[in-house]
Amino acid sequence: MERIRKSHGSHFLLKKAARTLSLNEWYTEYSDERISKIFHEMRWPETQGAPCCPHCNETECVVPVPKRALLYRCKKCERMFSLTSGTFLHGNKLPLRKLFAALLLLADAVKGMSASQFSRQVGVQYKTAFVLMHKIRASLLVENSQTLLDGNVQIDGVYLDTKERKPNEHKAAREQAARLKAAREAGAQEAQAVQNDEEPEWKPTPRCILVARQVSGERGKGGVKTVIGFAPCENGVDVDAFVAKHIATGATVTSDEHRAYAMLIAHYDLKRVNHSERYSGADGENINQAESYFSRFRRMQIGQNHFFGKHLLAYAAESAWRDDNRRHSNEENSQALLGLLFKQNGDGLWRGFWKRYLRKGNGVTLPAVTGDSTLASAA
Ligand SMILES: [Zn+2]
Repeated sequence: MERIRKSHGSHFLLKKAARTLSLNEWYTEYSDERISKIFHEMRWPETQGAPCCPHCNETECVVPVPKRALLYRCKKCERMFSLTSGTFLHGNKLPLRKLFAALLLLADAVKGMSASQFSRQVGVQYKTAFVLMHKIRASLLVENSQTLLDGNVQIDGVYLDTKERKPNEHKAAREQAARLKAAREAGAQEAQAVQNDEEPEWKPTPRCILVARQVSGERGKGGVKTVIGFAPCENGVDVDAFVAKHIATGATVTSDEHRAYAMLIAHYDLKRVNHSERYSGADGENINQAESYFSRFRRMQIGQNHFFGKHLLAYAAESAWRDDNRRHSNEENSQALLGLLFKQNGDGLWRGFWKRYLRKGNGVTLPAVTGDSTLASAA
């Protein structure tokens, strides 16, 4: 996939190159056969879309199963498989046409999309939308966890969900005020006791997303590759583990003056920029591309998803992908998402999610994504 050059002048999203496929074109010009051909080519790119048996890697002896769409039988090993066997889309029941439109909508949403909006636009249940979007995020996270950066890298951390929400003026608050007033009239000690009882116990845990962005050497191109990791806060131990996994030794790393990044000087050409004085140092060193990632990520939270919960890292991976592919056309991006979904999903992440969720109780078996770009089991 060739990166589209941004010529001087207008923003990339204002150019014709950004809108290579519209919903209207999809509706009028894409037949079911054409969509099926695209899906097959993305699933089996090595054989130009010819079905290949996942059990014995045969293409010659594969025949379609009569009257069963997208199902194939291998005459060599006598086993059956489908277009989506073993991938993130395993067991998918949506028609390919609908799935294609869904991916196009997601590729167009530069700051992500809420599951409820997605469900309305695609015409599926909220549950279907939620799981499909999380399957996409899981595939992006797997991809992200295997990415290695080199050259010029900027590193920083962002904190999310750290502010305590102010209580509303509602019935409970009025009742609490009345109890406090009555206790004050009775005596100072009792009033203190009531006040202590009523103090909110919830203290938000600081949650930090570490980000490292490889920056293009060409002026105006910005960040080209982004990796993300989770840490309770910016600290030396987590930062060391994060950079050892994702940044090649010898790279030039720029950070702010936070002490967590001080030890990077052992393995990297480390540059620092003191944000209390200026945002760009004397030699032009800055972490503006890392900040740019945070900007998109925060807007994704404020405007679309609101609550990241235990899937914070998956949402961070989605934001990283959107930032890295911001100058690709929407057709390319929708097909790239499809290509990622067709990668192998051996753990069966998100498969049968609502069945487990309903059977085992609320919130017990959510496929959690925690730690430094690691995927916890969905079981
Ligand atoms: Zn076979």
